[in-house]
Amino acid sequence: MACRPELTRFTTRFAPSPTGPLHLGHACSALLSHDMARAHGGRFLLRIEDIDQNRSKPEWERQLIADLHWLGIHWDSEPMRQSDRMPAYATALDDLWSGNLLYPCTCTRRDIDLALGAPQEGVAVSEGPDGPVYPGTCRERHCGGLPCSMSPRPKDMHLRLAMAQAAMLCDHCVLSPRQGEWGLWFTETGPAHAGAVFTSRESYAAGIGDIILARRDFGTSYHLSVVLDDAAQGITHVIRGEDLFEATRIHVLLQRLLGLPTPVYHHHRLVRDDQGKRLAKRDDARALAKYRAEGATPADIRRMVGLS
Ligand code: GLU
Repeated sequence: MACRPELTRFTTRFAPSPTGPLHLGHACSALLSHDMARAHGGRFLLRIEDIDQNRSKPEWERQLIADLHWLGIHWDSEPMRQSDRMPAYATALDDLWSGNLLYPCTCTRRDIDLALGAPQEGVAVSEGPDGPVYPGTCRERHCGGLPCSMSPRPKDMHLRLAMAQAAMLCDHCVLSPRQGEWGLWFTETGPAHAGAVFTSRESYAAGIGDIILARRDFGTSYHLSVVLDDAAQGITHVIRGEDLFEATRIHVLLQRLLGLPTPVYHHHRLVRDDQGKRLAKRDDARALAKYRAEGATPADIRRMVGLS
């Protein structure tokens, strides 16, 4: 038997949402991941993140594909489309539900603000990767005080992850290089955050709160879909903007809970405007299509994002 380890081929992806024009920040992510895949002799994949069916539009998808091709970016298999993946998301939610790690939530944004007493009363609210940490109002309220797994999983309410239980359960599955300490370890190769996330189980859960894993209107969430899709596409390296660095601690926990591999992460610096503000989809002024129409070349775009 050969004792040479089986090498997994470097595989990365670009995962835009077709909810607006691609701007320079997207170009930076897409070009960097494409360059890294090619430099490693690896694979580059495209994933269309269209779970928000209200905001996703076919014309934005057509536009983003045209922009990427114009930049010289090509993908190595058919794009994955999240709207085709609902059965996979439902299966994972069923698993977490039957493990009593989810509970239904009927809180509106206003209910949450009221429960937090913020911002009107100036009470400091702790901010997690998903915004204000959910105060836990619905945690005990639903399922009649019985374990939620004893009733069918509701499809018409938000489902939240019971984060403290999830972190407890993750006790045995943590890959910690520091013996005896709880921590979520992952490899980060980006410029801003060398190393990994280390924290106690309690401060981890309190700092993130019970995040929504399935939205009432989508039947899933960004966090759940992204970890399932990265695993399904065999992604070994996630290359994305540092605005998603904080979300990674959620993704790593979900990977451990769902028995999925944890890729290597590389969070790159964001492209900012002249005032130092990060670009957003609504900044149409920075849209790639506009630079194209004005005669810019792909090499000009590379220069603008610092990749030449
Ligand atoms: N769809 C996300 C975005 O457009 C990117 C998700 C990811 O790279 O994990 O910002």
